[in-house]
Amino acid sequence: MAAAGKRRPVAWKRPRRARVHALRDKLRELYGEPVGVPHRQPVDELVRTILSQSTSDRNRDVAFGRLKERFPSWEAVRDAPVEEVEEAIRPGGLYKQKAPRIQQVLRELGEEIDLRWLETAPREEALASLTALPGVGRKTAACVQIFTWGRPEIPVDVHVHRVGGRLGLFRPNAPFEEAHDEMLAITDPEDAYEFHINLITHGRRVCRPQPRCWECGLRRMCVWYRALPTDERPAPPQGRKAAK
Ligand code: SF4
Repeated sequence: MAAAGKRRPVAWKRPRRARVHALRDKLRELYGEPVGVPHRQPVDELVRTILSQSTSDRNRDVAFGRLKERFPSWEAVRDAPVEEVEEAIRPGGLYKQKAPRIQQVLRELGEEIDLRWLETAPREEALASLTALPGVGRKTAACVQIFTWGRPEIPVDVHVHRVGGRLGLFRPNAPFEEAHDEMLAITDPEDAYEFHINLITHGRRVCRPQPRCWECGLRRMCVWYRALPTDERPAPPQGRKAAK
């Protein structure tokens, strides 16, 4: 145990494969084994990911559904007055920014919008093509790859970044780009989807910005928690006991 009042300095080392497997297994025990079902609609995924920025999954899905309902094709979304696109996606929030961004991306995809060729493109080429689109970063490109075709990627969103950093999967405060590279380096391709989804679930339910370490099943494996002096470790509200 750490001595009270003294933070133990932790030098980061890339975790061994066995440790990553142990974390995967513990998360599986807690949240099950999610299985991805590739939908093979890359433009849908691209737009859905843009819509997901700073909103809940539910609001994103409502906005996406309204967009698909109102317009017969992605070409129609691209060519519509921006106010109509804004109106359709309004429930997703930030619609004034997202509508022109969606149209700008769609304009880059050619007269006939089609990204299905990416499925068989080499990974690096696919990522380079996607991240060359305006405002499309590594996370969005990774989402398109994994959710559209099941190609192994671990999109690092705020949850994966927070939880992965605390668990020591990459350097504390590593930039998102570096965290992406590390996650890919340490994860078996067949575990990518499950690990991604379960880290997000853990980040939403327990390892929140204010972490609920007292009820966390990963406590014994958590670099961040173990480095904290005992008197600084997050404690349960009065009257509740920490989980074993
Ligand atoms: Fe997050 Fe705390 Fe669990 Fe570590 S012990 S993973 S910081 S909730």
